[in-house]
Amino acid sequence: MTDYSHGWTGRILHVDLSSSKSWVEPTADYADRFLGGKGINQAILLGTVPPGTGPFDPENRVIVGTGPLTGTLAPSCGRVTIGSMNAFNGGVAESNSGGHLGPEIKYAGFDHVVIHGRAERPVYLWIRDDHVALRDADEIWGATTWEAEEWIKRDVHEPHLHTALIGPAGANLVRGSAVIIDRGRAAGRGGIGAVMGSKNLKGLAVRGSGAVQVAHPDRFMRAVEAAWEALARSPKQNIMHAGGTHLDGTQGANRAGMMSVRNAQDAFWAQERIDRVDYPVYAERFEKRRLACFACPTFCSHVYALRGGPYGPLVTEGFQANTIWGFGARVDLADPEALIAIHARNSQLGLDNDFAAVAISWAIELFEHGLLTTADTDGLDLAWGDAEAVIELQRRIAHREGIGDLLAEGVMRAAQELGQGSDRFAVHVKGQECMDEIRTAVAWGFGVVLALKGGGHVEGSCNTEQDGTSDVQGQEWFGVPTLDPHSYAGKERMVYWFERYKQMLDSVGLCYFTGPIIDTGRRVGPLEIAELLSAAVGREYSADELLLYGRRAHNVQKAFNTLHAGFTRADDLPPRRFVEEPVKTGPHAGVQIDLDEWECMLDRYYQLHGWDPATSWPLPQTLEELGLSDVVDRLRAADKLGVSRA
Ligand code: SF4
Repeated sequence: MTDYSHGWTGRILHVDLSSSKSWVEPTADYADRFLGGKGINQAILLGTVPPGTGPFDPENRVIVGTGPLTGTLAPSCGRVTIGSMNAFNGGVAESNSGGHLGPEIKYAGFDHVVIHGRAERPVYLWIRDDHVALRDADEIWGATTWEAEEWIKRDVHEPHLHTALIGPAGANLVRGSAVIIDRGRAAGRGGIGAVMGSKNLKGLAVRGSGAVQVAHPDRFMRAVEAAWEALARSPKQNIMHAGGTHLDGTQGANRAGMMSVRNAQDAFWAQERIDRVDYPVYAERFEKRRLACFACPTFCSHVYALRGGPYGPLVTEGFQANTIWGFGARVDLADPEALIAIHARNSQLGLDNDFAAVAISWAIELFEHGLLTTADTDGLDLAWGDAEAVIELQRRIAHREGIGDLLAEGVMRAAQELGQGSDRFAVHVKGQECMDEIRTAVAWGFGVVLALKGGGHVEGSCNTEQDGTSDVQGQEWFGVPTLDPHSYAGKERMVYWFERYKQMLDSVGLCYFTGPIIDTGRRVGPLEIAELLSAAVGREYSADELLLYGRRAHNVQKAFNTLHAGFTRADDLPPRRFVEEPVKTGPHAGVQIDLDEWECMLDRYYQLHGWDPATSWPLPQTLEELGLSDVVDRLRAADKLGVSRA
């Protein structure tokens, strides 16, 4: 019998902003079925958000979740997951971040923090162990996240707290608003920053003085040492250690056709452009030091400093490949100093990198085609590679000024309002901006589009087609006949595997970068995590059982999307640009998505999941097998259950 006092703290904190009341609920009510982190977040969300709720209604929740391994000595266990209803589409929003906030919440004595309601005036939530208070945030409501963090430290006389805050973007309900963790980390996707803004909540500040107990300390430490050694032996992990995904995912990703160029007009960035913003340039000119999240040996992050120049002085946590993909290739901007400044401004303003990159590149392309002019932009010229225009658009979006007000709604809504065929260039999945290039590697692209949070490469996508894994290994691990990135054969099996794996990872509280997304063979995978978790909580888990937990969590989110967003099979199709326009240059020139192949793959994918291929909705027997009969009842009441496998 699990007692939920090892690994877990055993307590979920609820705070109602409307009534200023707080209470505690046992984690045990959820942990048996959902483990923690994302699993419990989404179970609470599905169980408590009534049908008919909109993302900015007080009945929506913001749920900050840690896992049973968060805050232990397991490698990369500093992760925290924030869940809510998606600001773009009313479906699932879920975003995972590193840093130190997750462990701090555990040390304060909580596994999750569930925020209900809406405050009458701006507040922030201050948690110091059992002391829970809503404090006035009028003075910092429009402040940047960096300014607000400094102010809060003074306000509560605590220099060592950790924060999750919104900036001006969240306060102004910009749909692509991020929650910024500890100044430089983002829970970016799904617009959860805007949901917090709608609740008049500037954010959370946490300081804890407790500890996380593990059930079998000797066994746990042996598992920790084995995991750290596995990471040290992995050549790919060592590349991550040397420079993060900026090193691992820039030049190689460009050759693999994984970087959309000029709003996805192409998928290969000119060599002389990418060379200017390659990691060695940053290591030599800007890197002050390397940085790690809590208890992580990979140290994949950096601190960059601009001492002068047009954007200095500025010291900021550096970026991963996403910034090079989004604000480098996507807007054809090859100025290394400007990219540091743009990255820092996203953190300060509280903007999601992927959202802002797509919205801005869409606007620049419209300008190129004459669909937007200076009459629409208050005189601002938009051109590819113009850093000043990008920075000005960031500011206008965050403050909803002029053209920024249109872009703040996201490209799907903005194109509907603008008309003139502008939707042809609006690259979104389920209404949320899609920054990822998806024409050139089938499993990667399929994973992006099928991501339940509305696109993104951190659910079912994998690098396995591009990272040198052999066909023999692909067959052995995933049952895929070939890892040729252009082949559709069996690729749904890889996506299905990574979906379950990532759900589980976000439920126990470990980082994606220490697992098979980086190194399929030598890494911390389900087997190693099962041993870490078993030793930590005092109950035996197998690798297969962990993937089952992942599948259960995935189905809970699928049910939320079905119930609240009304998504169907049509929402699992790729953005039209990737179907209608082939890649123009580079090793993948001529490649585009084959829609017939995609549809066949969807059939096979729904079959694997046990979902109805006609609607994509979960079948009742699938949910029953997963112990989710309560979810069956909810979907049946809304007449949204799948009917048949065939
Ligand atoms: S691998 Fe990188 S992002 Fe992940 S926990 Fe470690 S330092 Fe943080």
